Amino acid sequence: MRMVDIIVKKRDGKILTKEEISFFVKGYVNGSIPDYQVSALAMAILFRGMTKEEITVLTDLMMHSGDIIDLSSIKGVKADKHSTGGVGDKTSLVLGPMVAACGVKVAKMSGRGLGHTGGTLDKMEAIPGMKIAIPEEQFMRQVNEVGLAIVGQTGHLVPADKKLYSLRDVTGTVESIPLIASSVMSKKLASGSDTILLDVKFGSGAFMKDLQSARELARTMVDIGDGLNRDTRAILTDMEQPLGLAVGNALEVKEAIATLHGKGPHDLVELCLEAGAIMLEQAKVVKDLKMGRQMLEKAIADGSAFNKLKEMVRAQGGDVSFIENPEKFPLARHIVEIRAEEEGYVRRIEALEIGESAMRLGAGRETYDDVIDMSSGIVLSKKVGDFVKSGDVLCVVHTNKNDFSAILEDIRQAFKLSKEKLAPLPIVHDYIR
Ligand code: URA
Repeated sequence: MRMVDIIVKKRDGKILTKEEISFFVKGYVNGSIPDYQVSALAMAILFRGMTKEEITVLTDLMMHSGDIIDLSSIKGVKADKHSTGGVGDKTSLVLGPMVAACGVKVAKMSGRGLGHTGGTLDKMEAIPGMKIAIPEEQFMRQVNEVGLAIVGQTGHLVPADKKLYSLRDVTGTVESIPLIASSVMSKKLASGSDTILLDVKFGSGAFMKDLQSARELARTMVDIGDGLNRDTRAILTDMEQPLGLAVGNALEVKEAIATLHGKGPHDLVELCLEAGAIMLEQAKVVKDLKMGRQMLEKAIADGSAFNKLKEMVRAQGGDVSFIENPEKFPLARHIVEIRAEEEGYVRRIEALEIGESAMRLGAGRETYDDVIDMSSGIVLSKKVGDFVKSGDVLCVVHTNKNDFSAILEDIRQAFKLSKEKLAPLPIVHDYIR
């Protein structure tokens, strides 16, 4: 078999066999097939697509390209949740403790941020002392005892995706439904949880720019999970504007803490209640979503969800005093308000622009080895649908950079006002199962 024939076959829109997909996945991981041939194939897949069968075969082969985590020593149902990535997405830091406080085990492997999107691991590292690389037995023990651990992926999990994802990132081949679906699902399936909830984002700050493509991606991933006997469901959620108010690592941790104290922004709270209720139903802890929401609301009101966050932070070596007193998180040197120059209703807050600006302020990385400044970022004062008077604060910018006036202007441009009254944007648009 020759790789060039596989590329040509896909370029011409034909269906690849299991043997052909296996040849390229194995050859790429063992180094016998070079990057340039795999990038040509990735581009052919982006243009020609794959059938459901091809995607399932590709996912299964990628999943088996490295270790598969065996969580069977952890008692009870293990639930996982994955977001396709966005701006201000601190959901795991809120949802993980909420669901664990209701008795479901959350053994979560998260990622780092790149470009305009943030990553849960970076946010966790804003908490002094927090370890995100812990030995596997400690991870298992922590999930058994605390009910919750959020850690980085181990070195041997899905090596095919590690190589392929970095290649796609620099060859314009990220935005392909078969490639995103197999990348996400191979990692989720290899990390061993019994149930998977996918938060598929759409809008300016997401990979999927519209609801229709988000729905297609979600359907594809749910079908892969179901095909491989894992209870997989998805919600389609808005990423036209940032989630919540805070964008930037320590700022987002503080917002997560406030949310666990019952003082979170409406969209973040709503997303965590909807997603959490589905996770509790998947784990069969509740009979329906209404009961799930009630249980989660109680976990916030009685402080048990907040305590769960503290227990996780303590178990992973983090300084709990920062969780108890969030004012201890150091502030950036410059804290600047951006004010409205006219009045009107907020029509758009471009998530992509806000995410990129936060990265340029120091909150994110452009390349894998950039160092993050934990205290920088943007805190919105308004959301879509809010009325603003001229002179009202639109958002507050935090940075340690010295020259940031051009970034301030870009942030201002991300806010679009309208004379017409607008309804707030709903957060959860659909539920796919
Ligand atoms: N997240 C992933 O893990 N993989 C993709 O391909 C896109 C987003």
